[in-house]
Amino acid sequence: MKFGLNQHQKETADFAARKPLPINRPIYHSLARSLNPLNQKEPSYFPSLIRVSTGTAIVLGLAEGKLDAKPTTVYLMTYRSGKCTANCGFCPQARGSKSSAELLSRVTWPTFPTLNVIAALGEGFRQGKIRRVCIQALNYSDVFADLEAVVKGIKREAAVPVSVSCQPLNRANIELLARAGVDRLGVALDAATETVFNRVKGKDAGGFYTWDDQFRLLNEAQAVFGKGNVSTHVIVGLGENEKEAAAAIQRCVDMGVLPALFAFTPVRGTRLEKNAPPPLEAYRRVQVARYLITNGLTRVNDIAFNEEGEIVGFGLKSDVFEEVINSGEPFRTSGCRDCNRPFYNEKPGGPIYNYPQELNRQEIREARSQLKRD
Ligand code: SF4
Repeated sequence: MKFGLNQHQKETADFAARKPLPINRPIYHSLARSLNPLNQKEPSYFPSLIRVSTGTAIVLGLAEGKLDAKPTTVYLMTYRSGKCTANCGFCPQARGSKSSAELLSRVTWPTFPTLNVIAALGEGFRQGKIRRVCIQALNYSDVFADLEAVVKGIKREAAVPVSVSCQPLNRANIELLARAGVDRLGVALDAATETVFNRVKGKDAGGFYTWDDQFRLLNEAQAVFGKGNVSTHVIVGLGENEKEAAAAIQRCVDMGVLPALFAFTPVRGTRLEKNAPPPLEAYRRVQVARYLITNGLTRVNDIAFNEEGEIVGFGLKSDVFEEVINSGEPFRTSGCRDCNRPFYNEKPGGPIYNYPQELNRQEIREARSQLKRD
């Protein structure tokens, strides 16, 4: 049996039966025009600065440096002088965090003039250096005006797919992003259970998010963007067990939402700075469960768990399991097509939770041994 072992191709093909965007406006490839989007009829407002992940800045030639792995997606973050109005315990951008405002996870995000970034990413896309743009949005009053303007500017410059990960709050904001040209919308669950959610980013954390609202917004996003064009983020290591993580993944997949897996990364200055990252073995098993569930090869009800909620069997014929593991695909960064987030959760020296590129034979052997159970 052969199935799509290129994770990014397979998941995108299965998930992204993309409906046409409700707008159809010309795409301009002229650097001069992109440098002056205010010459266009819209947007009438443009944020002057934007944050760019260091790896992205190097790939786009905005900064100098050496990279162990190059991002294939341009990672941007909306800029504001203060922090996010929410208060997620793991996030350096949280209202109550004492971390540098330049951090998200363990990555540094310096600011650049937005127009320079748009021009550079257009050039990078035409040269084949990057294949997607992802904009992470903080919560603040003008965030949707910022997102609308930046996405329109990007779409004028290049026909690059754009993902936005944000807290849309309501359907009107979701529709605004679709009209601006966003291709995929991400609404982060982050937590795998309601209890963990409340503790880490909901009411017990001084946050305004609710578990039910996140699912309502994921459904609203699908109604606007179409099934298969909505993503979420699930962080492993916030206090859930493997069974709960697999159940959350299954719930998302059953809705048509693509879950991207992250490993909890303690960052100095955040409320959870003293917590440990997840054991690699647990993360590997959840990675495999995610891969199998997302590709329709197993369901959470077919996975075997022990009393601690650890995965002890994947409910799969051994030849299929062998093929999946030997492909190395379950261990790669998951999420939107071409999103590889190099070293977002890990130091270059390891341990590597999410491999940003195809694994070599040695890496596959290591990842397999870290599963502990075959
Ligand atoms: S999976 Fe990657 S590209 Fe998609 S929203 Fe998440 S970080 Fe962005």
